[in-house]
Amino acid sequence: MRMSFRGLVIEQDVQAGRIQNHRAQAVDLPESFLDGSGGDAPVTVDVMYSGINYKDGLAIAGKPGVARTSPLIPGIDLVGRVSRSDDPRFTPGEAVVLTGGGIGESAHGGLATRARVSGDYLVALPEGMSARQAAAVGTAGFTAMLSILALEREGIRPEQGPVIVTGASGGVGSVAIAVLSRLGYEVVAATGRGESEADYLHALGAREILDRRELTGPGAVLQERRWAAGVDTAGSNTLVNLLAQTRDEGVVTACGLAQGPDLPGSVMPFILRGVTLVGINSVTASRDLRQRTWKRLAEDLSSELLEKMTSEISLEHVPARAEEILQGQVRGRTVVSLE
Ligand code: NDP
Repeated sequence: MRMSFRGLVIEQDVQAGRIQNHRAQAVDLPESFLDGSGGDAPVTVDVMYSGINYKDGLAIAGKPGVARTSPLIPGIDLVGRVSRSDDPRFTPGEAVVLTGGGIGESAHGGLATRARVSGDYLVALPEGMSARQAAAVGTAGFTAMLSILALEREGIRPEQGPVIVTGASGGVGSVAIAVLSRLGYEVVAATGRGESEADYLHALGAREILDRRELTGPGAVLQERRWAAGVDTAGSNTLVNLLAQTRDEGVVTACGLAQGPDLPGSVMPFILRGVTLVGINSVTASRDLRQRTWKRLAEDLSSELLEKMTSEISLEHVPARAEEILQGQVRGRTVVSLE
């Protein structure tokens, strides 16, 4: 094993909750760098691919709330091959995937050619999926599938009516549309980029496009019943309006805060229409749930559509892409090649 490796490193000072002297750059690192945060983790992985999620954008651009230690290798996702393991669940040579679990936040993450991680959230690369495809799915796609599993668990079926997906052109939204439409749901895509991305969203399987401005302002506590279900990535007024427009006994999942973390709404959709709101947290999902979710992704996400929503960059281009993702300019998913 080569002793040095290459990785993106964030360095910053935090004083009174404010980030100062933030730097993020790709550098050569000694193996001992991994002895830092998360250094006692038992599984060493030669990383083949990582990705960039909204959370990575925040950390790399120096926004608060994600990077909890400095210096830190960011990257909440990684796909690679185990090179050494003190955890009996993993053997050298095995291809593995890790999303969340604290990497890229409180422990070194996936935006490096080597990582040392806990086995608790690590799973085998699902059968039928390449390393690049798994990285293209990443946390965003995994979260989309968790949202869909939640809708299924709550009894939502395609024949019950349209399902709305917000943040449609983003990572979670793109995968949610592709999977839901393949499962036979009628999908409505809510986007702020209807003019530029309509063809893309229809190609993923969206039946209709809705201008997200119809959802981002304050609305009545109960509105016309439109959706059997919703997959929301935006939070704030968007989620409140989705709840107010959901049909009786419908279900809305909430995973994101692209519009905002607030929830300025009313209990009326819950108590007068029996609407269910389901929270989605991908970070600490159990290994069992992870394995089931990846299996479903391997079965229900078209590899052609996954390719259509994926772009690939090198480590050196990550800081620029991080800025773009925060500005809502990135379509679908970005993988970072580390081979
Ligand atoms: P992306 O940046 O890829 O996509 C977010 C999308 O949200 C944008 O592409 C845009 O879509 C839409 N959007 C942007 N700004 C606004 C706004 N002001 N109002 C409404 N919509 C907006 O992010 P991801 O898809 O990776 O993640 C989506 C959200 O889910 C993020 O908040 C992320 O932090 C969260 N998340 C949570 C997880 C969890 O475990 N709970 C895991 C993964 C993600 P368009 O241009 O089409 O309107």
